[in-house]
Amino acid sequence: MKLLALRCPSCAQPLKPQNPEVIVLRCDCGTAVSLSDTGLNTITLQFAAPAVEKFDAWLPLWLFNGRVHITNRQTQGRNKQAEQDAEQLWNYPRRLYVPAWDLPTETASQLGGDLVQRQPSFERTDQPENAPFIEAVVTPEDALKLLEFVVLNVEAARKDWLKSLEFHIETTTPQLWAIPALKDGSGWRMQPVLK
Ligand SMILES: [Zn+2]
Repeated sequence: MKLLALRCPSCAQPLKPQNPEVIVLRCDCGTAVSLSDTGLNTITLQFAAPAVEKFDAWLPLWLFNGRVHITNRQTQGRNKQAEQDAEQLWNYPRRLYVPAWDLPTETASQLGGDLVQRQPSFERTDQPENAPFIEAVVTPEDALKLLEFVVLNVEAARKDWLKSLEFHIETTTPQLWAIPALKDGSGWRMQPVLK
């Protein structure tokens, strides 16, 4: 990245990213700021209303509305239930999720896969001041690439021994959400949200 004077486009105070790979961070004034090769811009960040009182931080999560078109699914085993589950999941437009905080790809795709199967919806809440926003390090473009791993992860976990999968993903531009989370060892655990 170019060396830029990192100042909030809204209030001009200096920004101090924790992670050198930062893509989106939140200024003390509450503005969400995205960093890219073209500079600093404000970005819309939505906060998901928590269903619990206690949490430690807000985690960034890309949310897509999309449709996964499976064109070819080859398996080694036969399992009617697994086939039906796959059809049931992908035959409709779905919410698709990609964690945007710093995570190994495998962990991120597992978590994205869990979310895709659970399909949580989020209710917006006002910008809260009670917990820090963890910096996003995944660009929307990379999130789209990660979505492919999310789909693969879900399909590979079925009980019919996936051999090959061909698909394409049709989506809208993702929205960035902040999800309440508790510290869990060296990582984070997402907390329940209002539906
Ligand atoms: Zn600011």
